[in-house]
Amino acid sequence: MTAQYGSYGKELWKALCFSVIFVGTLIPHPVPPKGGKKSETTDARLARLAVRLADAKAKRARLAYAVSKRVKPWSFIKKMNERKICKRCVLPENKPDIWLNEEGICDICVEYEKTKNFNEDTKFLETDFIKILNQHKGKGEYDCLVMCSGGKDSTSSLYYMKKRYKLNPLAFTFDHGFETEEAMENVKNAVERLGVDFLLFKTDFMKDMFSKIVKTKSGAVICHPCSIWYMDLTFKVAARFNIPIIVAGWTKGQSTKQPVMSRCGCNVHQPEFASMAKAMGKFFDNHVKNDSKYKDFPRSMEEVLTRANKRHKCIVVSPHWFLPFGAETYVETIKKELNWKFPKLSYPAKSTNCYLNFISAYLSMKNYGYTHYHVEMSKMIRVGMLTREEALSMLEINFDEELIKDILKKLGCNPEDLNI
Ligand SMILES: [Zn+2]
Repeated sequence: MTAQYGSYGKELWKALCFSVIFVGTLIPHPVPPKGGKKSETTDARLARLAVRLADAKAKRARLAYAVSKRVKPWSFIKKMNERKICKRCVLPENKPDIWLNEEGICDICVEYEKTKNFNEDTKFLETDFIKILNQHKGKGEYDCLVMCSGGKDSTSSLYYMKKRYKLNPLAFTFDHGFETEEAMENVKNAVERLGVDFLLFKTDFMKDMFSKIVKTKSGAVICHPCSIWYMDLTFKVAARFNIPIIVAGWTKGQSTKQPVMSRCGCNVHQPEFASMAKAMGKFFDNHVKNDSKYKDFPRSMEEVLTRANKRHKCIVVSPHWFLPFGAETYVETIKKELNWKFPKLSYPAKSTNCYLNFISAYLSMKNYGYTHYHVEMSKMIRVGMLTREEALSMLEINFDEELIKDILKKLGCNPEDLNI
């Protein structure tokens, strides 16, 4: 799939390979050429080298082209840069959801400051987490079901459930047809090295809905219904295997102390998501409700929970809410212990496991001026887990129009559907 989607990545890789080959050819050869070419004249030899040199120049030009294509100044990025961004977090002004005061601080940051002390007092500790795990483990074949996408957060969740908390996990991965090969490789390495059972569910069930989101220009964010779908799926798997604990890889920025949240932190009740949630509601009313394929599709995360509770009781937690360290520590651990690797092409940097994420980020930036990653990272900045500079650097657009076009094609959409 990399070849199919990352056309410029492929070109870059080819160009790099050719460069290596070329450097190799310029190294003086100690052995005379085969086939009795000892009599080759100086002119012939020079001509041969000239061809190689011309070839190398062409390859270098291709490399430069591939590199120059990497970041393309799209008009919406320019527009984004013109937006006023909160001086404390990375959220732009987006009235009526996000307002900046006269000091350039957003109302979400102002509100956080007011309730900060209360939040600190009610912080959960790892010892509390261990108590919860002990209450539920040892009751069935598996102690927990770990949602493992191959990203750093979920892979480390799987690692810690097995190694730090000594539980017997079942790793669960879904693939809606747009998972990256790198992510799947990370999952494979992790389950093999940890020796845990693994369940992969692959389906194109969601493809039509994703395609509709793009074609209808609804303003709905692809990740939102996807989160609802995979959470519903996870509850069903937990019920099927009678597993009492669902484990996710949600960071403190994505969600804290909530019974269940989507992976991307899309809690529709947050003011940052108000406009996106409204658009999703409309999309469901106009395009999902009457579609026979999706007639049983849950409309919200609350509906997923209500249905799940009727089927099978279980809790949903993330070790990242309790671990006494952050990504800088656990990334090193999984790299060393599980041969985990960062994805080469990702938005935000070093994070994604899904090709659709590029489309989702593109649309969110275009429609709202920020993505759910801006919301997540802003939360992490407020609690001191990330600096504003680090967040801004990770949120820089690092993909180009060609990649978007390739993914659209796979989705059955056209560039015109995005007005590009
Ligand atoms: Zn702010």
